[in-house]
Amino acid sequence: MPALTEKKGCILIIDDSQSNLDLLETLLSDRGYTIRTADGGQPGLDLARTIAPDLILLDIMMPMMNGYEVCLRLKEDTQLRDIPVIFISALDDIMEKVTGFKVGGVDYIAKPFQLEEIIARVETHLELRWKRWEVERLREWERNYYQKLMELKDELMSTASHNIKNPVSNILGGIHLLRKSEKLSPKGEKYVEMIERGAERISSLITDMLDVAWVEAGLKDVPETLHVKAFLQPIVEHFTYGAQKKNLTLQFTPPSVDFSIRVVPSRMSQAVENLLSNAVKYTPSGGRIEVTADLQDENVLIRVTDTGLGIPAEDLPHIFDKFYRVQRREHLDQPGSGLGMTIVQTIVTQHNGRVEVESKEGQGSTFTIVLPA
Ligand code: ADP
Repeated sequence: MPALTEKKGCILIIDDSQSNLDLLETLLSDRGYTIRTADGGQPGLDLARTIAPDLILLDIMMPMMNGYEVCLRLKEDTQLRDIPVIFISALDDIMEKVTGFKVGGVDYIAKPFQLEEIIARVETHLELRWKRWEVERLREWERNYYQKLMELKDELMSTASHNIKNPVSNILGGIHLLRKSEKLSPKGEKYVEMIERGAERISSLITDMLDVAWVEAGLKDVPETLHVKAFLQPIVEHFTYGAQKKNLTLQFTPPSVDFSIRVVPSRMSQAVENLLSNAVKYTPSGGRIEVTADLQDENVLIRVTDTGLGIPAEDLPHIFDKFYRVQRREHLDQPGSGLGMTIVQTIVTQHNGRVEVESKEGQGSTFTIVLPA
């Protein structure tokens, strides 16, 4: 905030000529400014550090430490570097002015002084300074507001998710019991299936929302060193049944020479699971899914390739966005929340890696998790 809110602002005048100091002090204090003066470079710097003025009028030609050097020192000081410096000099030389701007001055006033000119320049630069403060203050307010909104949104998402999870589990449990205890008519079974599908969709959306919150909370656990084959094998096996049910070939090709990776197992397995779950979901019957792990240059590459629907080129840049789903019938026919890829990217980024995608519509996709080796 401005150093002095009293009067119109505080101006520090640094000049080795007492008559100039007196003249400028009288002129500017008559206009309502608070004036402080220093009769040389070093005392000027010291005073600037003590009072942090709103503007500095700085003579160039001074013994011991000239105005350029004072200005350079002011600009080196994080507390003082934003204070506008207007140079004053007897030399009205273009090179003088250029040097003044180069060392960080905002303006230049030539001696002998034109009083109205001084007032106009001082007022303009103070006005600019207030405006910059105002913009900075608004930005700060916006940043805080945004941060609060995000916190509120996370809290809301988490509370709502927890509160919805239990009733949805009750619905699914009730359906299970109903099927066990009653012989449903074909029509009744159709309705129950409808309810079940709806409840399952809500349940998986809630699970994904809670996963996002869990993942975005950061890596809480310490990374572990694991053999890549031992890490990936059980994850792939977990999808065998789902793949078989859809008549998909699922193959894991471990590296010819096993190597270690350093990951938080619960997190990284979730990332690979999401990729595999998508591969199974978006690959029509008869297709093929392959998982590989390789070391290349300084990177570990974990790849999931499928011969599925592929992703249209215009959708590719967005698939990591929260809730983004490709708006094609075949994609939307599959249950999903649009959060799976957000989770993958967040986890991989937290491991200092990146996710690469190659995809051709109608031909298939390859997702690669690239981690530093
Ligand atoms: P969803 O829950 O909808 O699967 P994701 O965030 O996991 O959400 O993926 C975003 C979108 O990217 C999906 O809706 C889907 O359209 C597309 N997508 C992701 N993986 C694949 C894939 N292997 N093949 C085709 N499309 C995919």
